[in-house]
Amino acid sequence: MDGANRSYRIRQVGLIDPFGRAISYLRVSVTDRCDFRCVYCMAEDMTFLPKRDLLTLEELDRVCSVFVDRGVRKLRITGGEPLVRRDIMTLFRSLSRHLANGALDELTVTTNGSQLARHAAELVDCGVCRVNVSLDTLDPDKFRAITRWGDIGKVMAGIDAAQAAGLKVKINTVALKGVNEDEIEALIEWAHGRGLGLTLIEVMPLGEIETHRADQFLPLSAVRARLMERYTLEDSPERTGGPARYVRIKETGGLLGFITPLTHNFCESCNRVRLTCTGKLYMCLGQEDAADLRTPLRLSESNEGLERAIEDAIARKPKGHDFVIDRRRAQPAVGRHMSVTGG
Ligand code: SAM
Repeated sequence: MDGANRSYRIRQVGLIDPFGRAISYLRVSVTDRCDFRCVYCMAEDMTFLPKRDLLTLEELDRVCSVFVDRGVRKLRITGGEPLVRRDIMTLFRSLSRHLANGALDELTVTTNGSQLARHAAELVDCGVCRVNVSLDTLDPDKFRAITRWGDIGKVMAGIDAAQAAGLKVKINTVALKGVNEDEIEALIEWAHGRGLGLTLIEVMPLGEIETHRADQFLPLSAVRARLMERYTLEDSPERTGGPARYVRIKETGGLLGFITPLTHNFCESCNRVRLTCTGKLYMCLGQEDAADLRTPLRLSESNEGLERAIEDAIARKPKGHDFVIDRRRAQPAVGRHMSVTGG
């Protein structure tokens, strides 16, 4: 098939992987840097990428726009901490044109909330309707211990500002054995009391950290069983385009999500790929294989080479991850930290 016919064919069928899954969701890590150092996410002493290796905001826009052209309907901006990247609102602003013309259903962001107070109103102005804020505890001292130097007051101010600006806020909480496992009910009551959804996430074995993953891992199957002793959990058809599965808690009226990469693998319905800030495309969060999009991006002003590189990458999207956390295994499933590929 010659080049012209090939790209015509792709435009017709969108991006479909070898297992018949349509790729409709792109997560974009715009920086590997973060103003927190969560103990399960990063090592204390991280080496960050030199700024010259990063795609510019214009380049990020170009790659995202090619994906939108190819049928991606949802973009999530993440990191590192996306809101610490200089001029990041320029990217939101430019991507918002795809919302305005109907090519994109949703532009959203995952943030630690520390910078949300100053960006919330502008995010709304750029068409962002929903944000995910990561928060693992309500206790200021525990918060500082988990994040190594975060200030919970700033996060709470960010959540207040987001709600005041009209953003729908979902809280993401990584369930950590012996750290916040006694706080899950309090987090549910707090979040639902404020009209926020809450999603619990199992810790994943990504990157070397100081602690053995088995010491952090809290299976959500056990948390769910415990919650059922206190609450009525009703399965909900709610879907947000990602891996979370939801229940409504009858007593609070709020939604509780579960992201269970370890106890219940959700790869069969995976619709996602992930772009890093240096232009690497990861087809699976839990595998090492990645495609270099920066080279074709910079090689030509035409998008043809970039489109071909994306097509070739999707053609080798693996069936799923092989996450295992047990005492005998010291190595992480993949060498990179979550901050590289984004949450
Ligand atoms: N800085 C932003 C934030 O805090 O949401 C975006 C990036 S952060 C890497 C995205 C999400 O990944 C956060 O909810 C974080 O708690 C979660 N996360 C980080 N490392 C993880 C791990 N090893 N397993 C499970 N979740 C992890």
